[in-house]
Amino acid sequence: MNLILLFDDDFTTEPGMVRLTGRRLRHLKEVHRAAVGKTLTVGHANGAIGTGEILSMDNNAVEMTVSLIEPPPAPLPLTLILALPRPKVLNRVIIAATSMGVKRLVLINAVRVEKSFWQSPRVSEENLLAQSVLGLEQAKDTQLPEILLKKRFKPFVEDELPAMARGTEKLVAHPYDATACPMGVGGPTTLAVGPEGGFIPYEIDKLEEAGFDAVSMGERILRVESAIPALLSRLYPL
Ligand code: SAH
Repeated sequence: MNLILLFDDDFTTEPGMVRLTGRRLRHLKEVHRAAVGKTLTVGHANGAIGTGEILSMDNNAVEMTVSLIEPPPAPLPLTLILALPRPKVLNRVIIAATSMGVKRLVLINAVRVEKSFWQSPRVSEENLLAQSVLGLEQAKDTQLPEILLKKRFKPFVEDELPAMARGTEKLVAHPYDATACPMGVGGPTTLAVGPEGGFIPYEIDKLEEAGFDAVSMGERILRVESAIPALLSRLYPL
């Protein structure tokens, strides 16, 4: 946790004071070995970043005065369209995408997405938020991503995706395509990434009909959790 993300409920009635319990208290004690007087990086969800000074800490709560002054890092101008991965992989992928600055993630169905994945508690709003928070805390960011669930591939790609992706570079990552994934697009992009079994030809056709270009990073087939960071750092190098 490189930044402690604060929510409105954490603020007490005294101006600039927060009171934390639970996971963040445990983390401060066990990992940061924090003590009264110590200063830490904090950020207000969807707001500014700054410092917090610990005023008191016991087994029940930690209290800090915070001063929030700096803006969070710039977001990536990218929408990630991702075939719902296996629940175990989902958490890691959300943390990775969020820590790299993705602000809109659309989890979609595809033929090679197992139906049961959609029933997983990991797809709950609560878990998606919890994983996003971990990603933001990792990357010292405060801006929560929007995560949308689209359980029907065809209506989404035909009816919603064209408007969502309008005016952006539209790419679908596909290892078998001859076109190399561009480097440093920089501007607004909509990037589709397939399931572990890959997109089927029909799905690639549908995405191409919606204006997407299939692009590859070479013959090595990467796992989704490796492909996403590789694609994002290629599209948005520092
Ligand atoms: N077994 C699948 C591979 C899926 S890998 C298949 O044969 O198609 C999961 C997803 O990661 C792919 O759908 C693609 O979006 C992305 N990916 C993995 N390796 C890639 C590469 N070398 N180039 C482009 N995309 C890749």
